[in-house]
Amino acid sequence: MSEEVRERLASRPDLDDLVAYGAPQLDVSVRLNTNESPYPPPPAFMEALARHVAGLELNRYPDRGFRDLREALAAHVGTLTERVWAANGSNEIILQLVQAFGGPERKAMTFGPTYEMHSHITRVCGTRLIRARRNPDFTMDAEASVNAIRVGTPDIVFLCSPNNPTGNTIPEEDVAAICEAAPGLVILDEAYAEFSGASLWRLVEDYEHLVSVRTFSKAFRLAGARIGYLIAQPRVIEEVLKVRLPYHLSSLTQAAGLTALAQAAELEATVETIRHERDRLWNELSTTRGITAFPSRANFILFRTDSVPGPEVWRRLLDRGVLVRDFSSTAGCESCLRVSVGTADQDERFLDALSESLR
Ligand code: PMP
Repeated sequence: MSEEVRERLASRPDLDDLVAYGAPQLDVSVRLNTNESPYPPPPAFMEALARHVAGLELNRYPDRGFRDLREALAAHVGTLTERVWAANGSNEIILQLVQAFGGPERKAMTFGPTYEMHSHITRVCGTRLIRARRNPDFTMDAEASVNAIRVGTPDIVFLCSPNNPTGNTIPEEDVAAICEAAPGLVILDEAYAEFSGASLWRLVEDYEHLVSVRTFSKAFRLAGARIGYLIAQPRVIEEVLKVRLPYHLSSLTQAAGLTALAQAAELEATVETIRHERDRLWNELSTTRGITAFPSRANFILFRTDSVPGPEVWRRLLDRGVLVRDFSSTAGCESCLRVSVGTADQDERFLDALSESLR
């Protein structure tokens, strides 16, 4: 690039050190690096979706307010239609929230190690990022967190439960204490709530500034459909309406969402299998020499490799056709890798490859 073009293409200086976010998408036989469901949606779902799509008027813009989907979502959650909102994955939900409540002159606080997109989106939206910490065992110190919030006065507080990549949940009373202390919006990312058996979304009834963020990408097995949603009081959604692009949710996405909600029980039927398999995998990992496995209530497990460095184990696993996520350069997760729970067969192949990689 010539100097002249470089000058004309001057990028935002505040994003100079930002790198594109995303896990490697490699063509390997055992892909356990992005916490997707290992089970494709059932044929009956695909057939119903195909019928639904065949009836769409794709020459027309979609229903901008996606009324049918909102009603079905509200019924699924057990709340009012005006308390739910959807977007293209929970990442877009988070983006819309930070666009609405963050921005220049504003601050957002994360408690790391946690889902890195929270910081990424904060920075993309020109919002000042305050990085607070979790305890070394990844639990949140409620008192220290409340203090950090009192001192930092963030306009947005990010919480994640179960937390990615560590897998642990935040107790309800700690979320409530943080809501009491937070001067602005509290975003509770519950992408993995179904695997923990409990969502804290009902707290939005007590706290008008709390939002629960959910997704169809994990328990619903529909990562490819890109559907996420939030549960909050109407005040929050009114602000989101100001920043959302018109027709952001395509007719195809709405069809997928509606079809999924009509078959929610069938789609979610694999959650129990995955929880069971997660606990089995954790038992295996925690008795593997050279590994420290952290307890998880999600569909993945973080583990530390004690004898061979994490990146080296990651590479050896890849050589054996197994892709996991390397977190060793994340502060607090040194030498840690994260494995998504797969089918029993995939997990066996991972465990075999792991024991070879540790030799
Ligand atoms: N939140 C958390 C904690 C996640 O781990 C992920 C996906 N890895 C997301 C949100 C985004 O998921 P999606 O955009 O597919 O809904």
